[in-house]
Amino acid sequence: MAEENDSTELVPDESGRGVIPTRRGLRTASTRSQAPARPQTRRGGRRSAPAAKRKSPARRFAVVGVIVALVGTVSIPAFAAATSGPETRTIQQAAFDDAQSLVVASHDQPASLSRSSYSATTSGEISKREAQAAAAARARKAAAAAAAAASYSSAKINLNLTGPGTGAIRWPLAKVDHIGDGFGARGGEHQGVDLLDAGGTPIFAATSGTVNVSSESYFGYGVAVTIDTVIGGQKVTTLYGHMRYGSRQVASGQKVQVGQVIGLVGSTGRSTANHLHFEVMINGTHVDPLAWLRANAG
Ligand SMILES: [Zn+2]
Repeated sequence: MAEENDSTELVPDESGRGVIPTRRGLRTASTRSQAPARPQTRRGGRRSAPAAKRKSPARRFAVVGVIVALVGTVSIPAFAAATSGPETRTIQQAAFDDAQSLVVASHDQPASLSRSSYSATTSGEISKREAQAAAAARARKAAAAAAAAASYSSAKINLNLTGPGTGAIRWPLAKVDHIGDGFGARGGEHQGVDLLDAGGTPIFAATSGTVNVSSESYFGYGVAVTIDTVIGGQKVTTLYGHMRYGSRQVASGQKVQVGQVIGLVGSTGRSTANHLHFEVMINGTHVDPLAWLRANAG
């Protein structure tokens, strides 16, 4: 999970850093080059005022001076922006490079500092700070989940598709024609059932519930999702493994409805052919998923 979150957060960051410097660079260039020009205008204005009282030719001269100054203020930044002389560029480059590193640092620091900065003394203060830190952590997790969810769109799936059936438990594939290794195969090592189907076939949530795991790399399962729910007072966890890369449609913590598309059949992780590896745990114990589906799905 950590790996997956890191990679998804880095992508927008990297692209953001690529975009921001160019915009900032342009803004910095124009404001910086205008700054030294402003005093010229003010100085010109101050000098022209007393001169205008004495003589009219002087006033004319002053007016010309003001115009020259104005033209100067307009043309100097344009010139500065247009030319890329080594001096101008070096200063500006250094200025906004520094600004960039400061922006990045100030953006990153609060997140890492808030976790360990408990300087409270009373137990009430400590628990209050802890509650605040927990809330902040939840907010960050939710933001990360949202960012991760937004990055799933590489595979276009019709989300209006729903799995067949009307019950609280449904088959995770529209049709199950070919079954590979069953529950307890490979000397008891295989804790699920392999439902063979073409790569790209939609996988449906077998129950409603809350997504626990949603990962591009979940051990040997490869791209996998798990959903937790309670049915008849028992905790039921379903696991969907070997999904296609980039096909997950749900994020950790997200509520899902039975029959909702959660991803596509693939062959990621420890897998040699396209299939859905499907597991069911009831109160933490693996059960035969095929028997469970046959008894309950509808
Ligand atoms: Zn399997």
